[in-house]
Amino acid sequence: MPSEVPLSRSVPSASSTSHMAPLGYALFATRWLQAPLYFGLVAAQGVYVFKFFNELWKLIEHVLGGQADETHVMLAVLKLVDVVMIANLLIMVIVGGYETFVSRIGLQGHRDQPEWLSHVNSNVLKVKLATAIVGISSVHLLQMFVDVHHTPEHDLLWGTLIHMAFIASAAILAYMSGPMASHGARPHEHGPHVPYEPGDQDGGRDGRRGPATLPAVVVPRQPGGDHVAAGAEERIAAAGFPARKRLETFDTGHLRAPDPLVLDRLGGLDFVGRRENVVFLGGPGTGKTHLAVALGVRACEAGRRVLFATAPEWGARLRRAKAADRLAEELAALDAYALIVVDELGYVPFDAESAQLFFQLVSHRYERASLIVTSDRPFGRWAEVFGDAGVATATVDRLAHHAEVVTLEGGSYRTRRLEEAAVAGWADAAVR
Ligand code: ADP
Ligand code: MG
Repeated sequence: MPSEVPLSRSVPSASSTSHMAPLGYALFATRWLQAPLYFGLVAAQGVYVFKFFNELWKLIEHVLGGQADETHVMLAVLKLVDVVMIANLLIMVIVGGYETFVSRIGLQGHRDQPEWLSHVNSNVLKVKLATAIVGISSVHLLQMFVDVHHTPEHDLLWGTLIHMAFIASAAILAYMSGPMASHGARPHEHGPHVPYEPGDQDGGRDGRRGPATLPAVVVPRQPGGDHVAAGAEERIAAAGFPARKRLETFDTGHLRAPDPLVLDRLGGLDFVGRRENVVFLGGPGTGKTHLAVALGVRACEAGRRVLFATAPEWGARLRRAKAADRLAEELAALDAYALIVVDELGYVPFDAESAQLFFQLVSHRYERASLIVTSDRPFGRWAEVFGDAGVATATVDRLAHHAEVVTLEGGSYRTRRLEEAAVAGWADAAVR
């Protein structure tokens, strides 16, 4: 009997507020004080609209009056671009700031939802603002250079210096937001890292809850509640999954192991934030591919890029890169994927070169990005697959160091009906 119960309920997102301390709740409610500030910025936006049309009208008048040469037009257009860029900056602060610091606007699924809003946080916002300011200051500088004969040398010098300062500060901010976002990624050193996910209100995804505090009913912790980041469909299509599978349709009752709670925890995707690996081991039909795909789909929905292929396919891909003398570039390009799935390691043994290359893939991603590997045989038998005990051991060493190794114990789900029928047949025979 399939027991769909364990993985099919979703988290009531409001539940977390019920146990919030009243004082904390009151403090938290003061964020609404900020709301009028954003509406004030909307008024400022209106000022820019007025300014834009004012400038545009002046330009048209000049052109019609025949007083505008090419430089003049270019300067006027640059001024218009400048105004638009500042207006863009404003809308970014208004929407992004309101969404981050006051309240969710609920644009998810809206046709015009800006791409950046799905992963906005104060770090992202700072970097976006800094790059917008660099853009604006470039336009200013360009204006000065176009009109270089009328710009005092002093202004030019300062303009250039200030522009450089903006670039430097944007670069520093961008650099800091990278390591900062991944800082503490090693749970063993800094405690679990909970990556920011929009809509994440339960704060309970850190995987540290001991068994004693776990709820009786297992709830799949979808990162970001029910929220699906923009572009999820594109990422799912690009990942190359052989079929679309979901954790919610995985019948944990079919298996003796693992504990459904393990799958629930993996579904929270903390391992991706921590750049750790997952290894699914088990006989044919125990659901290894299903689980690997389901986690991959979730990662896509949480805004991560994922790439799926079987072990022989990865071997071939890496061999092609090596033959073209661009293995290093290929491995670096794969860093763009937060999660790579290597399915079916073991059915087809690697040739010597593929084994080496696969080791390099695992070693390159070690503590850098996540892998999910599925195999029909335990680590102890990977030497058969790699054809070389040394390479196999070195690979397992790096793969399993920061990994959840999940052994799926049970019969094949594909042939479960046959087994049930066979058992029923025996029972019938015994009764007769
Ligand atoms: P494996 O990769 O371990 O050989 P698959 O993941 O390909 O097995 O599973 C075979 C088929 O059975 C797939 O269609 C999969 O969706 C389904 N399946 C396997 N295990 C389960 C399960 N526990 N609950 C629901 N479907 C399952
Ligand atoms: Mg499979």
